[in-house]
Amino acid sequence: MKLLEGRLINVSNRLPVEIKNRGGKPRLTASAGGLASALDSIWRHHHGLWIGWAGPVEAEAAIPLLQKAARGRPYGFRAVPLSSQEISKFYAGFANEIIWPLFHDMPSRCNFDPEYWEVYQRVNRKFAQATADSVNGKDFIWAHDYHLMLMGHYLRETGCTTRAGFFLHIPFPAPDMFEKLPWRKNILRGLLGYHLLGFQTDRDRFNFLSCVERILPAASSEREQSHNIVAYENHRTTVATFPISIAFDEFAGHAASHDVEAAANQLRRELSNNFMVLGVDRMDYTKGIPERLKAFRILLHRYPELRHRVTFVLVVVPSREDIKEYKALRREVELLVSQINGEFTDAGWVPIHYIHRNLSRKQLLSYYRAADIGLITSLKDGMNLVAKEFCAAQIDEQGVVIISEFAGAAAELRHGALVVNPNDLAGVAEAIHRACVMPVEEKRARMKLLRDVVRTYNVQGWAESFLEAALSPDGHFRRSSGAAAASIEGSDFPLVASSATEDQRIA
Ligand code: UDP
Repeated sequence: MKLLEGRLINVSNRLPVEIKNRGGKPRLTASAGGLASALDSIWRHHHGLWIGWAGPVEAEAAIPLLQKAARGRPYGFRAVPLSSQEISKFYAGFANEIIWPLFHDMPSRCNFDPEYWEVYQRVNRKFAQATADSVNGKDFIWAHDYHLMLMGHYLRETGCTTRAGFFLHIPFPAPDMFEKLPWRKNILRGLLGYHLLGFQTDRDRFNFLSCVERILPAASSEREQSHNIVAYENHRTTVATFPISIAFDEFAGHAASHDVEAAANQLRRELSNNFMVLGVDRMDYTKGIPERLKAFRILLHRYPELRHRVTFVLVVVPSREDIKEYKALRREVELLVSQINGEFTDAGWVPIHYIHRNLSRKQLLSYYRAADIGLITSLKDGMNLVAKEFCAAQIDEQGVVIISEFAGAAAELRHGALVVNPNDLAGVAEAIHRACVMPVEEKRARMKLLRDVVRTYNVQGWAESFLEAALSPDGHFRRSSGAAAASIEGSDFPLVASSATEDQRIA
């Protein structure tokens, strides 16, 4: 990778470590945020600084603990202190009660509280000031996700001229949706303060550009082969697509280990009478968990020959449990699981195995490896890393991926996966059936294709292509070969035309 002359300054809402008060004393723990810990593994190769919230402690008390956490890492930490009111209104409020549902196309779940907006601006200014105070001209600032959309503009207000990029890990909505946001202009202006904006898919990028065209008529945009340049208020921003990925070799290597293989074999013996369908998600209303359960119920009604032969393992990781909507979702999921199990369970067969806890890496990989079908039915999803992890762990190359067309990962995986509309419950049931009757050669050919895509453009490739684009002097860049391989212009899966017919039955 082209080396940065200066340091990489990573900025995210949370640091990968969190300081909590335990027994009256501040103590270091791993951060609860999935994003922060995922990025931590990539950033271990970069010299620099990570700026973010470190937990509910005084700034002074945080310093020695963060120095301790930085030992053995090539980068240091700088905490941005936030009050409990700021955390509640900026993070739980603006980010999770407005942007999260709106950007996932669920406006009726939004709570457009004007106080949230006030605090969101204040906290973004704090992050911008802490960042501006920490950088010099040769560094590169990489900000992450929907918590920091205004920081680009505020950085410029501080007079900071260091190049800054931003990656949005969640989807970006179409103009009709985005326009509902009372502060839509400010958000676009905030984003256009960065030099580089990265989106998960071309759909998100084009949505963003359409919003700019409609809401900021003073902005002008040029289209290049793989990116766009938007000019606004004497500033140019490169806008491009960088689908995030996983550490393929690490996942595949661990999945191939003797330990995981033995655990996967045991799961198959104990759980699967024939076909194991697997779902792995955080408990979140964007993941389409109730819809997936209803589709599974339709499958058991339509194809009675699958009873006793198909088992649905539903792993749901607890998430945002203090929010009312998430509590209600948990009740809904648990009621559906018990209704379906009540209706179909028979001697020697429980149709749904429901796991509501965090699994260890080894347990998760064992489920990925043991499963015949990875079932992803997000109503909307930035990427969905579970889909890619499932492929990496399919050492025997016999699993089938069923993926929602509204998950970002579908753009790359659609040629090997069965793509479904998660709102079409009967369609999802049919896709599960089709996966069950699919000839083994077709399963292998599809999974091979999927694994090639994920292997070619892994998380390291994602980080490198973002930095390559960020460091190009005039904002123009050529898409790296890895990114091109993951682009949506692939060839169609050759066996699609000859795949299992709708009325094929289980032998
Ligand atoms: N995961 C986990 N513990 C579990 C199950 C899953 O840490 O018990 C991880 C999984 O490996 C994946 C992440 O949770 O990396 C979920 O990421 P995804 O992009 O699918 O969805 P998100 O939760 O970010 O919306």
